[in-house]
Amino acid sequence: MKIKNIRTRVVQWSGETAPLPPHFCTNPMDLLQLPQSSMKTFAFHGWLIVEVESDDGLVGIGNAALAPLVTKQVIDHYLKPLLLEANPWDIEFLWQHMYRHTMAFGRKGIGMTAISAVDIALWDLLGKAAKQPVYRLLGGRTKPRIPVYASRLYSTGLGNMADEAQRYCAQGYKAMKLRFGWGPVDGAEGMRHNVDLVRTVRQAVGDDIDVMADAYMGWTLDYAKRMLPLLEPFHLRWLEEPVIPDDVRGYAELKSYGRIPIAGGEHEFTLYGFRELLQANALDYIQFDTNRVGGISQARKIAALAEAFSIPVIPHAGQMHNYHVVMASLNSPMAEFFPPVDVEVGNELFWYIFQGEPKAKDGFIDLDENLPGLGLTIDEERLLQFQVTE
Ligand SMILES: [Mg+2]
Repeated sequence: MKIKNIRTRVVQWSGETAPLPPHFCTNPMDLLQLPQSSMKTFAFHGWLIVEVESDDGLVGIGNAALAPLVTKQVIDHYLKPLLLEANPWDIEFLWQHMYRHTMAFGRKGIGMTAISAVDIALWDLLGKAAKQPVYRLLGGRTKPRIPVYASRLYSTGLGNMADEAQRYCAQGYKAMKLRFGWGPVDGAEGMRHNVDLVRTVRQAVGDDIDVMADAYMGWTLDYAKRMLPLLEPFHLRWLEEPVIPDDVRGYAELKSYGRIPIAGGEHEFTLYGFRELLQANALDYIQFDTNRVGGISQARKIAALAEAFSIPVIPHAGQMHNYHVVMASLNSPMAEFFPPVDVEVGNELFWYIFQGEPKAKDGFIDLDENLPGLGLTIDEERLLQFQVTE
């Protein structure tokens, strides 16, 4: 089998989007106190689709969502020429070739996101060639189904959030995650509002449900240190991204208090990035996203490293490229699940682009053992609602 072509498309949502109210979700821009809504910076209304076509007519599908127009350029100009005519079964060599060829400017961020999208497409292609789901190429099934947590609960008013949390309970979820709405620039009053969010959700669901809370890089170490004791009574399963990804020492300090487990890693890259986090004892939960971290070829290595440190991996965002890694790893007890909703921050867009993403039922998803590869197809008809750049 040889790689015959690589097609990249950026799809930009051109339909309606739900407005984001103030204090919807903390993020790293909050500290700058800009006049416009800072959450705009973190809306992802574009997506990159990669298709790798083999000489025997199979097509592997990959995707990525960070800066898709630029990521596309990296693939088209730097990665595609390395891969044409190569044998996709030499996937480890191909990964190393892409990594080393882009070393001077790649490594993390957009360079690694581009490699990730291509690598995911290659694994999908291999699964289709082998007529097996990707998780079987990675070691097979380690659990009957994958428990998922409902990941939404943006800061949209306490009454709304209580209703939403109870809805997830009624749908059978045993775990859910909320977003903080206030950070260091909002002072003591904002801290009280943050505590109210967590209290509201905890009271809405009772004590037999796991509740997690996400600061999405919007806090500082000082602020997080002051929030920890205020949040402790609500026994959160974890506090997510309390500080920016580069503040590894800050993560380690927060974890060292042992008051609330600390989660992060959705903005970290490659085996080397996670080696640093693990050696620094910085995280209680690892949350890489396979379509950022270097694709399935890196995700499985990080998963193995995390297992050696007894740190569970609960990847960011769900989606098939993460679910297959979770299914094949006993050290991944759960996965994230973004419920399908109207287009909002954009992390729900994959529901509009692909068909085959598993829907949660009673708090679980399952993977079909009869679907080869990742089990996704592109919803070409739905793409008519997008502006497509090829
Ligand atoms: Mg997160």
